Amino acid sequence: MYEFIPDNPYLLLTPGPLSSSKSVRNALLRDWCTWDADYNENIVQNIRRRLVKMASAKKTDDYTVILMQGSGSFSVEAVLGTTVPQDGKVLILTNGAYGERMVKMAKVLKLNHVVYPCPETAAPDPEIVSLSIDNNPDITHVAFVHCETTTGMLNPLPELSRVVKQRDKVLIVDAMSSFGGIPIDMADYGIDYLISSSNKCVQGVPGFAFTVAKRAEFARCEGNARSLCLDLYDQWKGMDGSGKWRYTSPTHIVRAFYQAMDELESEGGVEARFRRYSENQRILVEGMAEIGFKALLPKELQSPIITSFLYPDPKFCFKTFYEAVKKRGFVLYPGKISQADTFRIGNIGEVYPYDIRKLLEVIKECR
Ligand SMILES: *Cc1c(COP(=O)(O)O)cnc(C)c1O
Repeated sequence: MYEFIPDNPYLLLTPGPLSSSKSVRNALLRDWCTWDADYNENIVQNIRRRLVKMASAKKTDDYTVILMQGSGSFSVEAVLGTTVPQDGKVLILTNGAYGERMVKMAKVLKLNHVVYPCPETAAPDPEIVSLSIDNNPDITHVAFVHCETTTGMLNPLPELSRVVKQRDKVLIVDAMSSFGGIPIDMADYGIDYLISSSNKCVQGVPGFAFTVAKRAEFARCEGNARSLCLDLYDQWKGMDGSGKWRYTSPTHIVRAFYQAMDELESEGGVEARFRRYSENQRILVEGMAEIGFKALLPKELQSPIITSFLYPDPKFCFKTFYEAVKKRGFVLYPGKISQADTFRIGNIGEVYPYDIRKLLEVIKECR
């Protein structure tokens, strides 16, 4: 599958936008008519059907997919603003920037909410989640991030979802950076809303995001929305019958995403992609340790998506290092946490073990 991409000056080792295949970028090169079946049936509806299968092979009919213009955050905001009713209350678990972004959204949208804040290097404790729910009987929804891209931590989805569903709360999962790269069946965890975007593990280009929603739950959300453009329910009603987006559809991006879905399938599906990302991550962490870079998180909390590394010594200058590595063909990602000096390296996108081995040679030179 590996192809050298001579028209890209460097490989993006970032958590999205990420390095896409040349064939995905080629798919951008034609125009589409949004009211013709060539587009709305053969592309839009086809993508929605495939996404719903990917999200739950077991109970495909229980779920539906809503595509929404904008980056991933637009769809997270659309879900919060459309699904939490006026008299509802959402518990938000945070251990990084993306959990905190949901809290900001809840404030702007004036949603009733409570926060369970965790340190960036610790996973939310299911015991504390149960206590928070039991102490706040008016909580109706619980929201958390699956892979917290801030650190690369994989939050414990099975344990957290179990305590939420035992208490019969609506479950919202930001699976932005994990869906398509880590196998998840929504039915296994009782997830009601799962959100991801075009430019993460499906390996499309940026421009829209999608929500997989449990039909029975979502059907109750009419009239909740706090925003016209981000009314996810209305978007669904428009899209469900005809494949039409309410407002201008990002046609080229959607067509490129269709190609990215084909490529995910021909790679062998989510399982195969998970194995490749895991292999990338394993080679990376072992190689970095040999060069003197320690990972921030212990192995058991680490996702295969992106890895945070501690600065190796107080004199280390990330900017100089970054520029030197970039000149040799790889773009790294700065750190985002407050508790330690870190930088990040992503494993997702059109990136293979071969690339990681090359990267390690480059890092050795630039260190
Ligand atoms: C990328 C990402 C988002 C969305 O970010 P955008 O910049 O709006 O695309 C949300 N949550 C997580 C965990 C992410 O990794």
